[in-house]
Amino acid sequence: MPEQLPAEIAALRDRVDALARDVLAPLRDDASLNGSERTARVREAARQAGIFTMTQPAEFGGTAASLLALTAVRDTLGSHNVSHLGGLFGPGPGVLGGVGEPLKSTHLAAVLAGEKRGAFGFTEPDDADRATWGQLLGDTLIVNGQKSYVTGGADADFINTLVQVEDRGPAMVVIDRDTPGVYVARTFGSMDGTHHAYIEFRDVSVPAAHIIGKPGEGLPRALRQIGDTRLAFAAESVGLARWVIDFVTAHIQAPHRSGAPLGSREGVRLRYADMRIRAYAARSMVYRTARLGDAGENIVNEGIASKVFATEMVGEIVDAGIQLVGGIALRDGHPLAALYRRVRAMRLAEGASDVLRLNLARGRLDLNKGRV
Ligand SMILES: Cc1cc2nc3c(=O)[nH]c(=O)nc-3n(C[C@H](O)[C@H](O)[C@H](O)COP(=O)(O)OP(=O)(O)OC[C@H]3O[C@@H](n4cnc5c(N)ncnc54)[C@H](O)[C@@H]3O)c2cc1C
Repeated sequence: MPEQLPAEIAALRDRVDALARDVLAPLRDDASLNGSERTARVREAARQAGIFTMTQPAEFGGTAASLLALTAVRDTLGSHNVSHLGGLFGPGPGVLGGVGEPLKSTHLAAVLAGEKRGAFGFTEPDDADRATWGQLLGDTLIVNGQKSYVTGGADADFINTLVQVEDRGPAMVVIDRDTPGVYVARTFGSMDGTHHAYIEFRDVSVPAAHIIGKPGEGLPRALRQIGDTRLAFAAESVGLARWVIDFVTAHIQAPHRSGAPLGSREGVRLRYADMRIRAYAARSMVYRTARLGDAGENIVNEGIASKVFATEMVGEIVDAGIQLVGGIALRDGHPLAALYRRVRAMRLAEGASDVLRLNLARGRLDLNKGRV
């Protein structure tokens, strides 16, 4: 639960609360800043507050924060509707976590120093004849195929790509974007405001040393990377839900043209109570899951449950919030309209809700894993 946090995490939460209110929210609203100026200012503020290094390993100068600390910070940032700002957290290792040489020096260290940027190639297009595959010829892996939804792929220096290596199984492979045969076939934006690339690989020669771990271990590694971000999505969602509830609370307590504040009406109160019930449940489960993870427990199923529930919850709450605030909430530039677009993506990114539901059922029925 978010109460009774250890003293140092409670102090961190309070620092982040003040930072979000006094520094980050004004930066978010400052229309005179362009995107990169805003990111640079946010990054500087996050560094000074000690947030920036929380997602980075100690070996590379980071503070490798606990899941509970990260959850408290993400929840707090969400509660001020600033969690989407670029520059808050330093680049984490992702699937490169724990790699040996040469990737440790050539890619992992460069990513953590901010000198290189990686992207994640996992999703295949619906019309693919064959999932991206590779043939090992001596010390070289020849890769062919395509990835259809690589966030930041057009600007990335390399793509961590899931490749089916013939006779060996799936592997995560680091493919430098400037390698001959790597084509950014097209780029597109999505309604949440992020940018993606469709990338093709045509007889791309990759050093076998760019295979992360052993061929055959790629899928669990890729899924672990996705799993790590699921609790982050869930924690951000509960913070954003709190922001929406605060917004709606002020709105329904304010004078209304009907003569009485909307909050005096029973129908409005019922909807408002539902928002609070869902947010309470989601917030409780996210903190419980973070504590279990920090205690060394397997939280694959609990992370899935938290991500599905919290992202669906925030979607419903933003939707209900817009309904209660009325048409003005759909005005271009209204924060609820912007949030509606942002939170919708969360039910697909890092795993579609229904696919995660199937994984959760499998965890219990086939693997005897997971708790209630
Ligand atoms: C903002 C955003 C960022 C993303 N970034 C990345 C990225 O960086 N790298 C990357 O690789 N991908 C990325 N994705 C893609 C994302 O991982 C996929 O959209 C997601 O995994 C769903 O896959 P899909 O779109 O191919 O839909 P599909 O797999 O076709 O699923 C569509 C729907 O079909 C149903 N369905 C699918 N399979 C089953 C099943 N087995 N049983 C029952 N129902 C099923 C579900 O209702 C599902 O929602 C991103 C997506 C978004 C929205």
